[in-house]
Amino acid sequence: IMFGRLGVAVRSAVQRIGGGSVVTQKDIDKTLREIRIAMLEADVSLSVIKTFLQKIQDQALGQNVMKSLRPDHLISKIVYDEMLSLVHNDPVQWTQNSSILIMGLQGSGKTTLCGKLAYMFKNQKFSTLLVSLDPYRPAAQTQLSVIANSIGVDVLPSLKGEDVYATARRALIKKSSYDYIIFDTAGRLHVDQELMQELIGLQALIQAKENLLVCDSLMGQSITDVAKSFSQLSLNGVALSKLDANHKSGIILSLKSLLNLPIKALGTGEKPQDFMQWDAKRVISRILDQGDITELVQKTTQLLSQENHAQQLARLQKGIFTLDDLVIQMNAMQKMGGLSSILKLIPGMGGILESLQGKDVSFKKEKAILSSMTPKERKDPRILDASRKKRIAKGSGTTVQDINQLLTRFMEMKKIFGKFPK
Ligand code: GDP
Repeated sequence: IMFGRLGVAVRSAVQRIGGGSVVTQKDIDKTLREIRIAMLEADVSLSVIKTFLQKIQDQALGQNVMKSLRPDHLISKIVYDEMLSLVHNDPVQWTQNSSILIMGLQGSGKTTLCGKLAYMFKNQKFSTLLVSLDPYRPAAQTQLSVIANSIGVDVLPSLKGEDVYATARRALIKKSSYDYIIFDTAGRLHVDQELMQELIGLQALIQAKENLLVCDSLMGQSITDVAKSFSQLSLNGVALSKLDANHKSGIILSLKSLLNLPIKALGTGEKPQDFMQWDAKRVISRILDQGDITELVQKTTQLLSQENHAQQLARLQKGIFTLDDLVIQMNAMQKMGGLSSILKLIPGMGGILESLQGKDVSFKKEKAILSSMTPKERKDPRILDASRKKRIAKGSGTTVQDINQLLTRFMEMKKIFGKFPK
């Protein structure tokens, strides 16, 4: 789960302050202590935590307390504003007709990031050429080609025995034909002088607009050491990968203070679409479990433009919702990346997610039940009597109770859709 428990913990700490009229020092202390623990768990740097909590404390008790705001809402706003001030706030802007040079340790997620950027540009109707500057590992070149093919962007064919500079020059000749050229470089487990010299040479030759360092977020605060080992290069941004795979989202909040390099991209999974361009307000809202309506709307509109769904929407607007629609919805939910990835975009749903404990809902049972029904039964579930239910239970390897549960939930959904036809 992206951003882990930090948001849930902070939210519940703040909520405990409540909406009453008095907030005591004791309440504040308790809340700050809980936030501190949550931030430590997320591996936020100590110095950042200290200053952050001090600022909240000062504001919460100082003259900023306005009578018109509930104390919990007030603290929550202070927390939001202070978190926002911990990160770079400038919007990310990619310069068209330029190059992007991707660097980092081996396994940090460089090649994957190349695919993610190219995929994003493609969706924005920009063209990209992907170039592998890693002749040392043929598998790396193949990996980049596979990614390029899967998203449908061009990749520079590699020539056997060619050195990296020659490959880079061959790519740069094509500059005018593409909006972006993204260069993937070789990584090592540890930075060595040879690699550094090569990267320095490449940087001078390519003159990229973006020189990005990719870091595995699992490294937490030791990302600073990685960045230091790349300090001979002129970096202008960091991409953090694998935020889905650990709880160390705290690095997002520490990076500005530790490195003063802006984060430009966040990797949240292995697929090209598991990517978020840096957007300070959106990220802080996500960390604080305030949802991400922008992404929810984006994901939903993408889906609605696909087959079936436009039709289904029209039917829903008329208040029609059948079990067949339920099947379409379940498939859609899965396409959107499972229930949990949708829930976390809805404000306040992080807590529910915690209770699911990362288990994703695959709808396996529900789908089995629905596919064991006849079209007639799906159209009008009222005809489902005891013997039909028994048959369906047998066919789907479930129980009559499971079927009843599904039907109850379906009736609830139907009621909701019926109530809000618009
Ligand atoms: P490179 O050696 O720096 O090019 O790293 P790769 O791009 O090959 O990534 C190394 C491994 O990490 C691969 O198995 C990727 O699928 C995986 N990976 C990369 N980015 C992410 C991410 O954001 N989330 C997750 N869960 N895995 C990732």
